[in-house]
Parts: sequence; structure tokens; C-alpha cells
Amino acid sequence: MAGLEHCAMDGSMNETPTAFDVVIVGGGLVGASLVVALAPLNLRVALIEAAAPPQTGPSWDERCIAINDGSHRIFESLGVWPELLAEAALITSTHISERGRFGVARFSAADAGLSALGYNIPFRHIGQTLWRAAQKTSARLICPARLQAMEQGADVVQLSLDSGEQISTRLVVAADGAQSAVRKLLGISAQTHDYKQSAIVTAIRTSRSHAGVAYERFTPGGPIAVLPKPEDACSLVWTVPGDQVEAMLAWSDEEFLAQAHETFGERLGAFKEIGRRNAHPLTQVMNAQLTAPRVIFAGNAAQSLHPVAAQGFNLGLRDVATVADVLSTAADPGAAETLSEYESRRGNDRERVSGFTDRLVRTFSNQVPGLRGLRHLGLLALDLTPPLKDAVMRQNLGLGGLPSKFARE
Ligand SMILES: Cc1cc2nc3c(=O)[nH]c(=O)nc-3n(C[C@H](O)[C@H](O)[C@H](O)COP(=O)(O)OP(=O)(O)OC[C@H]3O[C@@H](n4cnc5c(N)ncnc54)[C@H](O)[C@@H]3O)c2cc1C
Repeated sequence: MAGLEHCAMDGSMNETPTAFDVVIVGGGLVGASLVVALAPLNLRVALIEAAAPPQTGPSWDERCIAINDGSHRIFESLGVWPELLAEAALITSTHISERGRFGVARFSAADAGLSALGYNIPFRHIGQTLWRAAQKTSARLICPARLQAMEQGADVVQLSLDSGEQISTRLVVAADGAQSAVRKLLGISAQTHDYKQSAIVTAIRTSRSHAGVAYERFTPGGPIAVLPKPEDACSLVWTVPGDQVEAMLAWSDEEFLAQAHETFGERLGAFKEIGRRNAHPLTQVMNAQLTAPRVIFAGNAAQSLHPVAAQGFNLGLRDVATVADVLSTAADPGAAETLSEYESRRGNDRERVSGFTDRLVRTFSNQVPGLRGLRHLGLLALDLTPPLKDAVMRQNLGLGGLPSKFARE
């Protein structure tokens, strides 16, 4: 396939630029969002992406992404919200329970004074929308191309691509995912925790309407989540022990639907049709650093989380909004003070959300009998104690991090 660069709309085909203010490595949801967020800033921007979108997409699989209200506001500022909304299902309430226990935590949009708690949108649709928007900016989209080497100087970073091309930039934003090439090239370590679980993701139809409710049910094997999709379908995210995933993927559609229904329970009636199944091994990866000289890490390259709380991309999008915010006033985008401002504005949000997500997985994975009772009380307390519920709600709505100008109320 011809490189996407040939689709660039900047009219610069005769003189291909090689010196930039910002080079983003990785054009997944985070890198592509950042291209769009930087468009108004009058910076020379390039994006390097190894895969060849829009056909293959970086990782545009069957998953849906639950976007919280904070992310919705950021996407509105980026001008892509109407297109995203066209394929979004509104989440008007959530229902969290544990199999075999009575405790339930419920959150509703009405309690938060909102029309929706969040929006469940196909991953592929978000990716394609962002790439279309990125192609309308003046950024140079170098794709497909892979970063192979980099050299940090005092004022610029030199980057070598697998095409043999060399480019230079004042700032590199690493948005190249959990296995970040930038991190490895710079010799930065990461703290990794393998949950020994995989998430099986697919679409289903159920005999009862979801009515806008996102369900998450904790079971001894792992959580099973059923979320609204457009046209009254649902997306299913079933977290299972890693050593069982192969066998479960080999089940017939009928067997898979029957087992998933058995695990989830009766709230949505029978499980009927099913789409393609994908599996994702689940690991938390926390980069030891959020910045390095003339380098910023964002999205999964900074922190990759278990999907149980649907926070990974929402957190990454707040990284994007903060990068754009700090660069809007920076004389030199790669200056030490620009990087330290980014670090200080992202640190707390990142620690809080990654800690919350990890604790949630570990607490509900543990089958110690006393802990089961505490979990049950915890869910009830959450439902009955307004301040606690408010705190969790604000976090899940994406309003807990320091506000960037993109997300101010
Ligand atoms: C099952 C599942 C469900 C999820 N559900 C939710 C949810 O509901 N809500 C939510 O907020 N989050 C969710 N997440 C998390 C979310 O999907 C991720 O946080 C998000 O997609 C990360 O995007 P990214 O752009 O940072 O990284 P990636 O998607 O990993 O993109 C990295 C990009 O970098 C490119 N790249 C890598 N190396 C190079 C190189 N050397 N040169 C050039 N390019 C390179 C890759 O090709 C890729 O396109 C879920 C995750 C999973 C697994």
C-alpha cells in the first residue's frame, strides 16, 4: 500500500520536511489524537506509524472503548465529537456486582447531572475518525515507517527510520504503546505485572435490551463486562485465566454464548448472536519515567493498564490534552521546564488511576473467604455512601485529574 504520506493535504510534496518541532512516534488512538490536538499551535509536527492505516490500523480490533465525560469534552475541543457520536452508544448507568453475592454498586448519569456517564464507541471508528482528522492538519504523516534509532542532542533529537530516512525534532512524544520502542532505545526500565489473565472481546445480542446500562460482574475467573453498543447490540469483555483462553477461543459460537451467559447471569436474558472473538493478554506496564531529555511518554507508552475499569485510553487522552496545553505556551517544546511541567501535571492522575485499577483487579481476583465478605460490604457501602460514591464517580468520569484547558467545566 502507498504510504499515507502521499495523502497529506499540506501541499508540500515537492519539499518533504525533515526538521520538526514535535515528532510523535506511534499513531494509535493516543498519537493520532495528539496530531489533531497540536494542529492549532503553529508547530511543525510529524507522526511516525509502523502499521498502515486505515486498512489494518495499528490495533483496530473488535474492542469498543468506553469514553468517559472528561474524554468526551476533550474530543469536543478537537472537533471530532459529532463524528464519534454517530457510532456511540450512550451509557446512562453502570451496575457492578459479584457473582453469588448480594452487594451491588450502581451509578447513574442522572445522579451526576449528566445525560450520559460515558459513551461506548468501536475502537476502529475512533481510530479512523482520528486519522481522517489528522490527515486534514499540516502534520507530515510518515506511514508506514518504523522508528529504529534515536540520538538525543542538547537542542534536537535525531531519529532514524527503517526507510533509511533521518529526521530531527526539538521534542519526541513517545505514543508507541506498551512495548515502547522509544523506551527501549533510551534504556529506560518499566515495572511490569503480568495478571496471567486475558480479555476475550466480542459483540453479542441479548434477548433483553441493555437500556443503556453497562454491567460488570466479578467472578472467580475474572470480571465479565457487558456494555451497550449501537443498534441495541452489546460488547462483551470477558476476562479469563490466561491458561484457559486458547480452549475458550476454540469453543463453537453456541458453546461460547452458553458459557458466557451462565457466567454473566440473567439480567439481559439469553445471549444470542456473536461476532468475531479477539483475545488480549493483560499486563500492567508502568514506565519508570514520564519524560527523558527532549522526550515525553504518553498513553500506553507511559502506562498500560488492565481494562477492568475502562481507564487506559481515557487516561492517555488526558496525557494528550496536557501535552497540547503545555506546548501552547512553551518557547521550546523540548525544554527541560516544558517536560517538568508535563510531569508535574500528569503524575498524580496517573498514580491514582493506575493504583485504583490494579487494586480493583487484585481485590476481586482474591478468593480468600473473608475478603469476599468485605468485597460484598464494599459494593454495598459504595452504593449507600454518597461521598464515597461521588469520589469514585468523579474518577470514573475522568474529572479527577488536573484539568487541562480541554476539559475545564
Ligand atoms: C480488551 C481491552 C479493552 C479496553 N477497553 C478500554 C475502555 O473501555 N476504555 C479505555 O479508556 N481504555 C480501554 N482499553 C485501553 C486502550 O485500548 C488503550 O489504552 C489505548 O488503545 C492505547 O493507545 P495508544 O495509542 O497509547 O497505544 P497503542 O494502541 O498500542 O498504539 C501504539 C502505536 O505505536 C505504533 N508503534 C509501535 N512501535 C513503533 C515504532 N518503532 N515506530 C513507529 N510506530 C510504532 C504501533 O503500530 C501502534 O499503532 C482497553 C484495552 C483492552 C486490551
